[in-house]
Amino acid sequence: MSDLAVGILGGAGRMGRALVRAVTEAKGATVIGAVDAPGNPEMGKDLGTLAGIDPLGVTLGGDVRALFEKADVIIDFTIPRVTAENARVAAETGTAYVVGTTGLEPEQQAAIAEAGRRAVVVQAANFSLGVNLTIALTRRLAEVLDDSFDIEIVEMHHRHKVDAPSGTALALGRAAAEGRGVTLEDKADRGRDGITGARKRGDIGFAVLRGGNVAGDHTVVFAADDERIELTHKAGDRIIFARGAVHAALWTAGKSAGYYTMQDVLKL
Ligand code: NAD
Repeated sequence: MSDLAVGILGGAGRMGRALVRAVTEAKGATVIGAVDAPGNPEMGKDLGTLAGIDPLGVTLGGDVRALFEKADVIIDFTIPRVTAENARVAAETGTAYVVGTTGLEPEQQAAIAEAGRRAVVVQAANFSLGVNLTIALTRRLAEVLDDSFDIEIVEMHHRHKVDAPSGTALALGRAAAEGRGVTLEDKADRGRDGITGARKRGDIGFAVLRGGNVAGDHTVVFAADDERIELTHKAGDRIIFARGAVHAALWTAGKSAGYYTMQDVLKL
């Protein structure tokens, strides 16, 4: 069987370059092209060279529609406005579409859901296989353990991160809440400082650390009297998100049109 033809949107970006490496190292997939914003200074350069690997003989281009028409699957890690436009192209061409861009406004998100009516769409705010497994395990543990186990979520990220807690920490909190049959909004305790009073039974607490160049550490603590379970995931490099997205891209082959998440891809 011939390789899956993969097109990358945001090819000159941090994730775009990692994606070129991840597709190249994967079995059964080939990068057939990548597009970045018109006027990007890297335009016309070899994708392998940009990604810090051997030249691939494929260069960075600017024609999004042509790439959608030529590729079996498109992976998009760009910016929200552009992703919403790309989702409309995916709906028109029916090309499988893997979306990693975050920070989408509701109407931009709606364009992605709409594309799922015409094409295979996989979207995740975090494509790391390990994080997705940690989310599923958190849901399962919260299902099994009653609220004599206090749930606390601790995350650490690099000093430049502007939002807190991280989207992944919140996803872990939502999974814990789902497992317990409650909503995170009712149970989250996000800002302890000073005389807070005793911990409320059933709360899901968050603690946030910032410093250095930490790519993303998350720990979910289930603490009861005399025993404690801790689930920890540590991201060392953004290549893990790229590998997860390529895994999702390979998974799209032969699937029917629909909107899917990484939890579907991993059957979690
Ligand atoms: P980046 O700024 O390095 O890359 C974005 C790229 O998109 C840039 O090269 C930019 O020029 C390009 N771009 C802008 N307009 C474009 C257009 N019209 N056509 C094609 N390309 C265009 O950012 P990054 O760190 O690579 O992250 C990109 C996105 O992916 C962000 O939203 C980030 O939050 C998200 N992200 C998601 C995951 C995940 O697992 N889902 C992981 C890491 C990053």
